[in-house]
Amino acid sequence: MTTSWRQDAACARPGMDPESFYPLDLDPDGLAVTAARRVCGVCPVRGVCLADVMASEDPARRWGVIAGLTPDERAELHRGHVLPGPALPRTGVAA
Ligand code: SF4
Repeated sequence: MTTSWRQDAACARPGMDPESFYPLDLDPDGLAVTAARRVCGVCPVRGVCLADVMASEDPARRWGVIAGLTPDERAELHRGHVLPGPALPRTGVAA
């Protein structure tokens, strides 16, 4: 399902490779995740993106960097845990 906010997504801009948000290496400090976080960090719809993924993501199929968070970080958020302090600041993502 396509929703209008997705049209404003930074990851949907021309030239952006959607695959870069689904790296094989999901090391939270790795280059691939850091690169994806940088894009999410300037995305004007990050808030709604995060709300959408938190409401709709299948825990058994959690993958990729979405709204600047890795699958493990989203799982932590689902469990009601506060994300580690360094996770978002190091990305430049505003909470
Ligand atoms: S926050 Fe990231 S994954 Fe979500 S729409 Fe924006 S760029 Fe895409």
